[in-house]
Amino acid sequence: MNLILLGPPGAGKGTQGHLLHERYTIPKISTGDILRAAVGAGTALGQQAKSYMERGALVPDDVMIGIVQERLGQADTKHGFILDGFPRTAAQAEALGQMLHRLGRPLDYVLSVEVPEEELLRRLAKRREIEGRHDDTDKTIRHRLEVYQHETAPLIEYYRRGGLLRPISGLGTMETVFARIIAVVDPQ
Ligand code: AMP
Repeated sequence: MNLILLGPPGAGKGTQGHLLHERYTIPKISTGDILRAAVGAGTALGQQAKSYMERGALVPDDVMIGIVQERLGQADTKHGFILDGFPRTAAQAEALGQMLHRLGRPLDYVLSVEVPEEELLRRLAKRREIEGRHDDTDKTIRHRLEVYQHETAPLIEYYRRGGLLRPISGLGTMETVFARIIAVVDPQ
């Protein structure tokens, strides 16, 4: 099962990706987690990514495409994967399409997790308190939502045209949202 979780910051992509990973034992590939690990380890990638992340800006496409290309080349992705936080731009979506075509592993679904903006702001403020994420400050939160609207939201239409889009309401408990996802990917 080859999936993309698409949605604004705070929609619950990470949580739902984790639940999918547990249920289907396929890797969840979170580009945000990969970048945060690189920043924490102080690698060259981390040094390059840090300032973008702190501002709530996107790390350049070529860097991100390289990361995902390498990750999808690893054997554990052969029976499926869940992409969380990638693609975020049209260029990333195009590059991913080419990669998956070359690998002969087409996408099954793009799950678009939908949450109204007021609720996103509430959740991101809460996450800042609980997780202490450095990029969850008022200014960066606002900027990340703007970047999402401008760069990433157009991918909804892109995947709708491709027939892959499945809208999922992200409201309610994580179990409720997960049940909606299962109803789409694994209907009984
Ligand atoms: P996330 O954990 O998905 O919210 O990502 C945290 C931050 O990492 C984002 O605000 C970006 O700065 C960076 N990032 C993660 N994924 C991408 C991506 N696909 N393209 C560009 N930047 C990304």
